[in-house]
Amino acid sequence: MMEALRFQMVGEAFARKPLDVVAPSERPCDYFGKKVFNRAKMYKYLSKSVYDKMMDVMYGGAQLDRSVADAVAAGMMQWAKENGATHYTHWFQPLTEGTAEKHDSFIEHDGKGGMIEEFSGKLLVQQEPDASSFPSGGIRSTFEARGYSAWDPTSPVFIIDDTLVIPTVFISYSGEALDYKAPLLRALKAVSTAATEVCHYFNTDVKKVTSNLGWEQEYFLVDEGLYAARPDLVLTGRTLMGHDSAKNQQMDDHYFGSIPERVAAFMRDLEIQALELGIPCKTRHNEVAPNQFEVAPIFEDTNLAVDHNMLLMSLMKRVARKHGFRCLLHEKPFAGINGSGKHNNWSLSTDTGILLHAPGRTPTENLRFAVFIVETLMGVWRHNGLLKASIMSATNAHRLGANEAPPAIISSFLGKQLSSLLDHIEKADRDDLFRLDGKHGLKLDIPQIPELLIDNTDRNRTSPFAFTGNRFEFRAVGSEANCASAMIALNSAVAEALTDFKRRVDERVAQISRDFEHSEHNATFHAIIDILREDIRACKPIRFDGNGYSDEWKAEAARRGLDVETSCPVIFERYLDESSIRMFESQGVMSRKELEARNEVKWETYTKKIQIEARVLGDLSMNHIIPVATAYQSRLLANVERTHAVFPAEKAETLCRLNLKLIEEIGQRTASIESQVEELVAARKVANKIADEHQKAIAYHDTIAPMFDKIRYQIDKLELIVDDASWPLPKYRELLFIR
Ligand code: ADP
Ligand code: MG
Repeated sequence: MMEALRFQMVGEAFARKPLDVVAPSERPCDYFGKKVFNRAKMYKYLSKSVYDKMMDVMYGGAQLDRSVADAVAAGMMQWAKENGATHYTHWFQPLTEGTAEKHDSFIEHDGKGGMIEEFSGKLLVQQEPDASSFPSGGIRSTFEARGYSAWDPTSPVFIIDDTLVIPTVFISYSGEALDYKAPLLRALKAVSTAATEVCHYFNTDVKKVTSNLGWEQEYFLVDEGLYAARPDLVLTGRTLMGHDSAKNQQMDDHYFGSIPERVAAFMRDLEIQALELGIPCKTRHNEVAPNQFEVAPIFEDTNLAVDHNMLLMSLMKRVARKHGFRCLLHEKPFAGINGSGKHNNWSLSTDTGILLHAPGRTPTENLRFAVFIVETLMGVWRHNGLLKASIMSATNAHRLGANEAPPAIISSFLGKQLSSLLDHIEKADRDDLFRLDGKHGLKLDIPQIPELLIDNTDRNRTSPFAFTGNRFEFRAVGSEANCASAMIALNSAVAEALTDFKRRVDERVAQISRDFEHSEHNATFHAIIDILREDIRACKPIRFDGNGYSDEWKAEAARRGLDVETSCPVIFERYLDESSIRMFESQGVMSRKELEARNEVKWETYTKKIQIEARVLGDLSMNHIIPVATAYQSRLLANVERTHAVFPAEKAETLCRLNLKLIEEIGQRTASIESQVEELVAARKVANKIADEHQKAIAYHDTIAPMFDKIRYQIDKLELIVDDASWPLPKYRELLFIR
């Protein structure tokens, strides 16, 4: 029976036809943002004065007052009703990586036995979801169960199906963040403030600095029927077993290849829905591994980009099911082929342009560019261990360190042009770099970098934090992760570096003004160059343009004092280093208490993930693999017996040689699986007794996770010899080549 089933599923998977996606009759620019209460809708549905106040709140950092909230809620409700919404929800990003929502309808009793629909500023602005079952790391003990969600007016509300969705932060009653958005907003504010002040050295007109994020989301698609027959995929998001397909990515024929029709239909559908929700999807293509793809929007303000990524990930899962697929966001769903990441393209910009853009027209612009590059490097260098912790997870751990993704050491690739610019600033005679010129006032000898050369800089694919022309690409982020985690750490670290830079420059200016007769303006540039040179020297250990996968680099990085730890639960400790706590507290991003609580959640999550995998692996071994292998072994035994009954002994022996060998091999492998599963259970029992979450996670990492591959090895060998017709699980060659 079983046999028929697997083949039937594979047959169905291969026979599935692409869905017919009916494109809207309008062009993308016309339906972009159709389901978002964006500026245009606000203009239409709000009075002029309320609209102006909202713009102040959204773009000028003003506080939202209650009278405005009521008026905004009324306009929102009107628009929502016209678009078929009957419910609303506060949408937030708890520490579980996904998003959470609880829907309420607009209806209320009208006091006359009927119902009216209502939505007030109060409901828009704040709610109290029963939040006791979201992870809080003990900040909010369960009996209090109190946490509240508060509207983030800088991220516009939108409609999904019949529900008005309101992006919110999620915090405890005492004000601690229980989510990703609250600390992200604080980090963005910190970097904006610090960067604006540094910008004022160069241009006093700059009003505001914005942090930008453009993510590139990688993912796998598998046929839904085959997915359902893989309990490991269903329960853990990855395959815990499965022999390599004879052909996988070795021909390099998938990357940028033509997109299969069924997948193209999915992508078209996804893009239409994403554009309607205001997510500016721009790029789609095949990735390196079979069945692996990528989608990327145009970059946006980091807070909005994070919301859009969370929204897109849930949209991807929904749309995939409609097309008979399952979308796998796990960082490593299949062994032996590439995993999935999410490059985070990051930059800072002002109302006057991108700060990390290749040098511009004037010497001061070039100097400003160098300052922002170097202070970014300072942040990354000082907190390289923390940045690694910010992207680390039980699932991303499979990717880091393997020869496909950034290594588990954070370093930065700058390319030849930029490196030589920094070397020049560092080594040139100070008086050559910076001169007072009678006629022209200030003279700065900072060479221009031709833009073209920067764009063509050899892109070092092995670098986890590479400069690519007008931005840094943080490539170590996992495909499943909330980008906020990385963005909180990066923006806070850069904010600290810029704050520190400004403090030292100001001190130096005071000193120079005392010692020399410079005009204040020139003293400032003099000081900037001094401090910049200091920092170029200090952050050198983080600069590395070579091959990040090589063993020499691991040794060299350790010599340079970079963090080379590879154990996920140990890497999390970096959040509690005094230097990290000081950085987060001084930038007003997170307190010691919040950091401690969040680490409890990280360790607990790590343990749970490994625990679930261990259980699934044990179950599949015992009730899928061993029974099937043993049944096949019995068939072989019966064959041997009958052969001996029919043929003379000597002849029978020759005829049975292969089967006897297989019988023995199956016996040995199943015995080995069985005893290792027993060991796994025993190791779990020991680890489960550890009360401390930190130590428990370390035990799971050190004693349990390493056993998976050993068990898998035996199972994958069995897959090669057991009769294909009786193998119960869809194989890699079937999962990965469905069209
Ligand atoms: P790649 O060649 O690295 O795969 P893609 O075009 O796929 O590049 O994606 C690059 C991403 O970087 C896009 O989201 C793009 O909008 C974004 N990006 C471009 N310039 C910047 C910038 N200055 N700051 C942040 N993101 C940027
Ligand atoms: Mg990229």
